[in-house]
Amino acid sequence: MQSHARVVVIGGGMMGTGLLYHLAEQGWSDCLLIEKGELTSGSTWHAAGQCPSFIADYSMAKIHHYGNTLYPKLEQLTGQNVSWHGCGGIRFALNEAELEWFRHVEGISKLIGFEMHILGPHEIRQHNPHVDISGVVAGALTIGDGHVDPAGCCNALAKGARKFGAKIERFTRVEDIQAAANGEWDVVTDKGTVRCEHVVNAAGCYARRISQMVGTDVPISNREHHYLVTEPIREFIDSDIEMPVMRDPSASAYFRQEQNSALIGLYETHTGVEAWADRGGSPDWESDSELFEPDMDRILPHVEKVLQRMPIWADAGIRRIVNGAIPHTPDANPLLGPAMGVRNFWQCCGSSIGIAQGAGCGKYLAQWMIDGDAEINMAGLDPRRFCGINDDDWVRAKSFQDYTHMYKLHLPGEERDAGRGVRKSTLYEKLKDKGAVFTEAASWERPKWFSLDGRAEEAGFGRTNVHDVVAAECMAVRDRVGVTDLSSFAKFDVTGADAEAFLNRITANRLARKPGGIILTHWLGDNGMIHGEATISRLAEGHYYVLSGAAAQHRDLDHLRQPIRPREDVRVEDITDDWGTLVVAGPRSRDTLAKITAVDLTSDNFRWLSAQVIEIAGIELRALRVNYVGELGWELHVAMPHMPALYDAVWAAGEEFAIADAGTYAVNSLRLEKAYKGWGAEMTNEITMIEADMERFVKYDKDDFIGKAATLKRKQERVSMRLVYCRLDARDHDAHGGEAVLRDGKVIGITTSGGWGHYTKTSLAFAYVAPEFSTPGSEFDIEILGSAIKAVVLDEPVHDPHNARLRA
Ligand SMILES: Cc1cc2nc3c(=O)[nH]c(=O)nc-3n(C[C@H](O)[C@H](O)[C@H](O)COP(=O)(O)OP(=O)(O)OC[C@H]3O[C@@H](n4cnc5c(N)ncnc54)[C@H](O)[C@@H]3O)c2cc1C
Repeated sequence: MQSHARVVVIGGGMMGTGLLYHLAEQGWSDCLLIEKGELTSGSTWHAAGQCPSFIADYSMAKIHHYGNTLYPKLEQLTGQNVSWHGCGGIRFALNEAELEWFRHVEGISKLIGFEMHILGPHEIRQHNPHVDISGVVAGALTIGDGHVDPAGCCNALAKGARKFGAKIERFTRVEDIQAAANGEWDVVTDKGTVRCEHVVNAAGCYARRISQMVGTDVPISNREHHYLVTEPIREFIDSDIEMPVMRDPSASAYFRQEQNSALIGLYETHTGVEAWADRGGSPDWESDSELFEPDMDRILPHVEKVLQRMPIWADAGIRRIVNGAIPHTPDANPLLGPAMGVRNFWQCCGSSIGIAQGAGCGKYLAQWMIDGDAEINMAGLDPRRFCGINDDDWVRAKSFQDYTHMYKLHLPGEERDAGRGVRKSTLYEKLKDKGAVFTEAASWERPKWFSLDGRAEEAGFGRTNVHDVVAAECMAVRDRVGVTDLSSFAKFDVTGADAEAFLNRITANRLARKPGGIILTHWLGDNGMIHGEATISRLAEGHYYVLSGAAAQHRDLDHLRQPIRPREDVRVEDITDDWGTLVVAGPRSRDTLAKITAVDLTSDNFRWLSAQVIEIAGIELRALRVNYVGELGWELHVAMPHMPALYDAVWAAGEEFAIADAGTYAVNSLRLEKAYKGWGAEMTNEITMIEADMERFVKYDKDDFIGKAATLKRKQERVSMRLVYCRLDARDHDAHGGEAVLRDGKVIGITTSGGWGHYTKTSLAFAYVAPEFSTPGSEFDIEILGSAIKAVVLDEPVHDPHNARLRA
């Protein structure tokens, strides 16, 4: 076996070969894939091969669409048969909410370019005359997707990769991975050791074990999954038209034609089990092309429902039952990207629909590895989004829920109950007692809104029964004073004699020169793309307090730790879980806090965008005069144990001003009114500060900083899109993000986030549009759940455009 390679990919399933193909195709041919058995011998060989394009997540839909365009031509490209069947698919909607969701996905189909039509129940029978449409409200017909032979497809990708120069070693097991002294990796196998620059973990159900070899982990749980194939069906033998792949939420099942037989796959909703549960949920290294005993009791209720849908199958004999293992992650998305804290170790695993996703995941991960970025937003795929939460019970609970909910629609605002309560601020119980309804962010429980009359949210796409409650929270913040627990912020202390020069080198803005100064700044890639956003306060000489979004905690730790040079005096401490954050904002916030501190809070002593270490209610804390809701206010950062006492003191002081609790629903509405952008939505790795209209935060006159040259270059170029802030004529459905922006029926952009501004009574959204539609006053339509809503580009925030209230 060769002793050196640029990249070693571990695992020869769809994910590993999908990556190998694209690395080699994009020019990195010095890649070696190592597979312990035959290619496909993990989960891939026994998969049913469906490749749906109906996906609501924008980045994932792009990944699926790419596969559905590559697979039909893969045989021609590689000479290996893949048995592509472009029979299309139909998914059933069983209620109005699902139909609304279809309309949303139809908008995504326009953005991405896959063909989708919403069918009435009787039109469904034109595509599948055998199906019983009882209880079906509509069908989502996707044209151009279908199914493929998984083993053929995987082998075709491998063959293509070899043609581009990549190498594959089969029947070779990776036994260890060691960091070499020169910063490279030694991949130790039973046939020798390979030295390489990059290692990729594409080990499917073994991905945790491979990760653990380098001292990290991935949140993956392997689930058993069944499908069965019947004896040939007379009606199929007599027809030359293949029926589309059907997906039925009432049966939690997919079913299709497999040559002249029926294939029925089931996602059990109550009794699904973990694969290899008796072996601690992990396969032995010897496991090879392994299947489990079928469990008919488990799947029978679902099979019966499918047979009611397809009465022509009722008497067909069963020819084969497959029960195999699939890796699942807590949030259904695969893990694609770097492992936190481990340089040049990449994850390419956790895909539960890996046949459909293998090519697209490979394409975009290859871009990230080669170019430093993928062309799609990778925030929802980056393995670091879980912030290192890997507890076995949590992973099992979440991934089991993901499995059982495969065909369940999740409405905006709906909370999922599995694996909750992992990260809580010390205020959790107190706020719960006051009616807080929590939502999750990077496993933190964050108050979303406060149910003061005991009502529960009726989740949905439109404005819900908590609309007025959130309005009241917003009014309290704008007119009086509101208090919000935002302890989920990622928080870092950066210290050392070189801290200032270091932070100036790795971010685009210039650090505050005066003690106490606060700046907003961005991490850029070498290519200028936006990799993160942080608020940095200069607490003292050589001491900076860095804050960023909850889900960015581990990404930003990498941003902070990896560029430190050998002799640089810089230390980075992650204090996220040790410190809490209480936001006190509103015109009476100063009056409130003045009652419980001796510190002068007027602008003469405590100006906007400054930080001080002070005492409030006898508790020492970091007070930052900054907030995300656009009012006079302070973020109070305090050691977690002090949060309850601080909250009580603030509440007691604020009662005279009718203080109110506010949750993240209110925060979102308030930040939209101020046109504050969010990382992961408005600011992503797909764009630079130029497209994001954030150039005022780039200090070109600074000495070199990461991304400077590329941003300057982009400034000279004509950009293909620009971020705009707009007002919508929405009546009862606001934008959420991911909606198509249309002009004269033609797609000209996409929304990134949106919602209702309760104080200004305005429906608002951010969108990326073609530059010619970005000037203030430009008009276009935003397609919300199938309706074209008029929108106009604004030139300034709808609330306090000149920051008078912030400076008050
Ligand atoms: C019954 C069933 C039906 C399915 N149907 C579909 C479907 O219709 N559509 C769809 O998209 N998906 C389907 N799936 C899911 C799909 O099979 C998986 O998502 C996909 O195969 C995962 O691919 P992978 O490359 O990540 O993992 P794998 O295919 O498991 O590949 C990982 C490889 O890594 C190798 N490996 C592990 N450890 C080492 C080591 N130490 N050294 C060397 N090699 C190692 C393994 O041998 C294995 O070959 C189905 C799954 C099942 C069980």
